[in-house]
Amino acid sequence: MPRAAPTYRQRLKVAARNRRDKAEGKIRDLPNRDRQEAALFYASAPWRRLRRWFLNRNTLCADPFGTHADAGTIVPAEHVDHIKPRRDRPDLAFNPENLQALCHSCHSRKTRQETAEKQETPSNG
Ligand SMILES: [Zn+2]
Repeated sequence: MPRAAPTYRQRLKVAARNRRDKAEGKIRDLPNRDRQEAALFYASAPWRRLRRWFLNRNTLCADPFGTHADAGTIVPAEHVDHIKPRRDRPDLAFNPENLQALCHSCHSRKTRQETAEKQETPSNG
């Protein structure tokens, strides 16, 4: 007897399981706990839901460095960025007031800045 084609809901479930398995596989390979925690956070259903909601309402890069305005360009957003980094303000992780939509270039630049700032700040162990 031929099997019925999976319903849309069943296909969504399989896709979600594959995403989770992939994320968990990646997480095991990550070198440290911070990165493991971040990978779990970004793979979580609540974050993915919030991210999708946010990008639907903020389709363009927020242009935090003014580069797109200077160039006279409008650039679509690809990333949802935590304005105050999650590391510093985990309480604001799901607060839309602390989110901005960024293009890949602006997100990379901001991440580089944050990484540099983190390395300048002496660790208190
Ligand atoms: Zn941008």
